[in-house]
Amino acid sequence: MNYQEILDEIAQDIRPLLSEGKVADYIPALAEVKKEQFAMTLTLFDGTQISTGCSEKLFSIQSISKVFTFTQALKYYGVELYKRIGREPSGNPFNSLVQLEYEHGKPRNPFINAGAINVTDALISSAGERAYENLLTFIQSIANDKTITSDNRVATSEMQHGYRNLALANLMKSFDNLHNDTDEVVKTYFKHCAIEMNTQMLSRSMLYLANYGRDPLSNQEYISKEQAKRINAVMLTCGHYDASGDFAYRVGLPGKSGVGGGIVAVVPKQMGICVWSPGLNAQGNSLVGTKALELFTTRTGLSIF
Ligand code: GLN
Repeated sequence: MNYQEILDEIAQDIRPLLSEGKVADYIPALAEVKKEQFAMTLTLFDGTQISTGCSEKLFSIQSISKVFTFTQALKYYGVELYKRIGREPSGNPFNSLVQLEYEHGKPRNPFINAGAINVTDALISSAGERAYENLLTFIQSIANDKTITSDNRVATSEMQHGYRNLALANLMKSFDNLHNDTDEVVKTYFKHCAIEMNTQMLSRSMLYLANYGRDPLSNQEYISKEQAKRINAVMLTCGHYDASGDFAYRVGLPGKSGVGGGIVAVVPKQMGICVWSPGLNAQGNSLVGTKALELFTTRTGLSIF
């Protein structure tokens, strides 16, 4: 299959859509990002990368970081983690408070904001002040890039406007399902959301999930085969919030989006993928990114279905 040709064709075909969607302006630092941008990268098991568009351009990974925090928490706590968070789709917006109230402070899954804030709390409980550094080291390792870091401007901007995320943290605390200082937990959460990567780094970072928890290039095992299966399953069912069903229907791959406009996806036993375009649809997922992945799996037949 000529992947380069396929990606270049997709880049052409999505052009008319680049002016659609809306950047995540509820985070002032992200409101400044130009909407008409697109990049897509595939990373194969031998390390070959095929890209189209501005694949070296760094962007805010936002909720894609939730895949990495979930991986770390699952590795440390195992199934104990499910005492504090569920693994069912929420069918609600990513930052919703309502469900959390009537489900007694237990977030539906690790990929909605409440779930990820809860996972961050669990990581702080296990690693203390080193929680963020440990996470960053892990990301640098799976992406094979030591330059990766967080953009403090974005993290600070979120903290200044993070009323809803602080409300989620405080609500969980009121149900005794959050154990550290809420400000510290939310600050750490914003810091990992503000990590900057490009599509090359992010597609590379998905290889361990495409290969049973083991990086096919370094042969390092990051998580067990069983845990890799679970993470992929939760990505498929919960990775796109209340549009997870639509993403499975259209793309048919485990995936995770972020409001920075990135989407990572996993083709089991074959490759890691990342696409980026900052214009979002109503559910907060990259509009063009979703379309590009839909075109990719339709043209290559590489969905899991
Ligand atoms: N940092 C963002 C927030 O908390 C992450 C949301 C997202 O990417 N869906 O609102």
